[in-house]
Amino acid sequence: LEPAYAFMIRTRTPGGVVTPAQWLALDAIATTYAERGLRITTRQAFQFHGVIKTELKSTMQAINAALIDTLAACGDVNRNVAVAANPLQSAAHATVHAQAAALSEHLLPNTRAYYEIWLDEERVAGSGGEEEPVYGATYLPRKFKIGFAIPPYNDVDVFAQDLGFIAVIEDGIVAGYNVSIGGGMGATHGDPETYPRLGDVIGFVTPEQLIAVAEAVVTAQRDFGNRVLRKRARLKYTIDDRGLDWFKGEVERRAGFLLKPARPFDFVHNGDRFGWIDSDGNEDGDGRAHLTLRVVAGRIWDRDGVNHLTGLREIARVLDDAGDGAQFRLTPNQNLVIAGVPAALRARVDALVAEHDLDTHVSATPLKKNALACVALPTCGLAMAEAERYLPELTDKVQSLLDTHGLRDAPIHLRISGCPNGCSRPYLGEIALVGKAPGRYNLMLGADHRGQRLNTLYRENIDEARILEALDPVFARYSAERVDDEGFGDFLVRVGIVPSRPAIPLQLRTEN
Ligand code: SF4
Repeated sequence: LEPAYAFMIRTRTPGGVVTPAQWLALDAIATTYAERGLRITTRQAFQFHGVIKTELKSTMQAINAALIDTLAACGDVNRNVAVAANPLQSAAHATVHAQAAALSEHLLPNTRAYYEIWLDEERVAGSGGEEEPVYGATYLPRKFKIGFAIPPYNDVDVFAQDLGFIAVIEDGIVAGYNVSIGGGMGATHGDPETYPRLGDVIGFVTPEQLIAVAEAVVTAQRDFGNRVLRKRARLKYTIDDRGLDWFKGEVERRAGFLLKPARPFDFVHNGDRFGWIDSDGNEDGDGRAHLTLRVVAGRIWDRDGVNHLTGLREIARVLDDAGDGAQFRLTPNQNLVIAGVPAALRARVDALVAEHDLDTHVSATPLKKNALACVALPTCGLAMAEAERYLPELTDKVQSLLDTHGLRDAPIHLRISGCPNGCSRPYLGEIALVGKAPGRYNLMLGADHRGQRLNTLYRENIDEARILEALDPVFARYSAERVDDEGFGDFLVRVGIVPSRPAIPLQLRTEN
């Protein structure tokens, strides 16, 4: 006998787009092999938790049969490519998603080991030796993350990515992308050599130049990233150690062209937009429409009289039977878009949503709709404190406090992580809790709500009572002193409750 080992499996789903048929297959896999249903990650992947060792291979083969893989969803390679799930501008979204998917394919390792180990192709022993033009013999020093944003929404938190592409859309056409490099969330408590960092915008590329510039960034990091100190192995440290200008020059040398000056862009927020919306931005048109549903902490399951997994299965069946091109899109904020629903099916989808209580976005406050949590306990081995399981209780209490100050509808972005690795991108939360020990967190305040300014440590290693105690006077001042629709984080910086931190330069934003 051996211990009952259980594993987490994560998919590679660029941009988090799957068909209704694939949704049904993923649902069946979750039901058959995993515990706690389906989970949407902040990189638009699905995670299956609690897959036991003896069923790993069957699970991987079932995922593959659904035309989805898990290749390079972990490890020191390019991870799942994140793409704006913004339901507006569908044509531009389709173009950006296609380019992101092509880049994801381009950056896959060539190794056949995945297919040999999991899919019964050839023997593993003696394998290897494949050419790896991007990764070489040693792969990357550390994981690598890419995200594509479509302004005016920064739902992918593009400046948290090692490599970010900000779509520039002119007359409905994707003219190209501003390129951002060196973002990253991970840090270690008490170690000033590690820190979250926002990406720097280094220029503009055309769609035709995108893969070349991405490969240049990845291979420059491959060759110059820190392979001695793993905690300093991310691209952000390579850039800080060698200088942004040097790194940009190296990228241009490898790509074989100079980047053009960055074009203006403007982000309004980094959350999701909920409910129905048409491709042209109206809510009551008769064309195809998109429905964004709130998924608390990305967890979709049937439990305690809540049947969200069943409800989405029913919706997937309806859309699959119709065969009309509708999609499921995971958002980088752990929510779900049922996209491209034909007008004739909207009423049926609405009925199923209501029947299975999937419409919590209608009554939830902005705080609850925008809150993010990483998995943390009991699943993540790195967790120091609760996150996903604590989120509902935490948001209830913070909401009560907001209510007492007349701030019920304040659109504050709250994020919680079980450790400083920052999988829920906590350093970009207007309020964030970063786990230190069971029941204790660092309280971070003062990011903006556009993903363009990091927050700051406000109170260290405190429990729930002290978190609420610290927030109470801050909410009181926000209620009394905020200007017009000033965001919470912006207010905290303006009045000096937290210091201002370097933000993405304003000259790169258009004024409106
Ligand atoms: Fe990521 Fe840390 Fe949360 Fe684990 S506990 S999911 S490593 S942030």
